[in-house]
Amino acid sequence: MPKVVDRWVQRLKNKLDPIGEMTHWERLAAAFDLERTDLVPVAPELDYWQITYAGYSHQEVYNDVDKTTDACLKTWADLRTDAIWMYVDIGHQLEPFIPPERRPEHFIHRGEKDYLLFKPIATTLDEAIALYEQRAYEKYLDGSRAVLHYTPHMLQLLEFQEKMDRQVPIIIGIGTPTNYAETIVEVQRFLRWMVTEPEERVRHYLDLCLQERLAALDFYAEFAAKNGARFCCAWGGARTWGPQHLEKFGDVDRIFIEKVKQIFPYVFWHICGHNLWQALEMLSSWDGVKAIQYDMPYYGQEPSWPEWFERVARLLKGKQCAMNSPTTQLACHGTPEQIRNMVTEFIEATTPHTTACVMPGCEIDSFSPTENVKAIIKAARAWRWS
Ligand SMILES: [Zn+2]
Repeated sequence: MPKVVDRWVQRLKNKLDPIGEMTHWERLAAAFDLERTDLVPVAPELDYWQITYAGYSHQEVYNDVDKTTDACLKTWADLRTDAIWMYVDIGHQLEPFIPPERRPEHFIHRGEKDYLLFKPIATTLDEAIALYEQRAYEKYLDGSRAVLHYTPHMLQLLEFQEKMDRQVPIIIGIGTPTNYAETIVEVQRFLRWMVTEPEERVRHYLDLCLQERLAALDFYAEFAAKNGARFCCAWGGARTWGPQHLEKFGDVDRIFIEKVKQIFPYVFWHICGHNLWQALEMLSSWDGVKAIQYDMPYYGQEPSWPEWFERVARLLKGKQCAMNSPTTQLACHGTPEQIRNMVTEFIEATTPHTTACVMPGCEIDSFSPTENVKAIIKAARAWRWS
């Protein structure tokens, strides 16, 4: 039996109907380069959803690379989005920090479609700093799912990308320093420390996170970029920081992105949750970031959706591609009709100012109905420049 990637290449290569005049790759790249595209690209973040869609449970793929890759390729073959998102879970990110015998207590598989739940691996700032200073992530890396699952899965998808002659790009997702700083201890705890702990200690912790992430980028240069990866999603943290925190500490992510942009030509920033206007302003000034996957406005701002889309599009004009719509909540709980409307509103409010990519602000919920995900794609494919 041929290997999973070859099976899909045999099935799909030279057998797919073209969609529009550009390839998926050309379409997404052009939007990043702020050029006019034939159709508005659509690339919802399907990492968990595609496992469910393909008929697997999350438990089943947890240690099975072939099934994970099979799920992504089956989903793409059916839906023909303009990019393929890797499957990524929190185990990939955290396992390298945890000794093997302690991993079972940190990760909880609740249900077949549920997110993998986890417990923080440090509960005080001193503990978190010690984890990094002792380089725990190097000690436990071998034998972690980062090595045994994430990497081979990424390599399989890149093999597919290359064997299909780069018709469709694989999106490589990488956590940023602030994302790691928050995830390891849980967001709300880190946020509290920003107020209660001395600034130098917080700064020291963030610098340790930055150093680890910069070193991790050498891995991505060697294993992702050298194997053809060109599109990268930087999963940002700092989603709930205030303007002063951004000013004080936001530079760790900026330093990180300076290195990312030397490795990947097409980088976009993922900032989910309630987006502070100052955070978007900061990101819009980083020239290594070619697109921003943004989310809802911060509480208390409450513009209408078209107003919010337009405001962001004006900010990104001449600089970055805007990625949004529908909300992940609507994708899960709305009707196909509501989804179509929101996607159309987003495109209409955005394209007078900058390029648009239809992509909800965060990951599509694993429980989202298939007809809703199809409605996102259909709405993007149906829209035409007048
Ligand atoms: Zn997110």
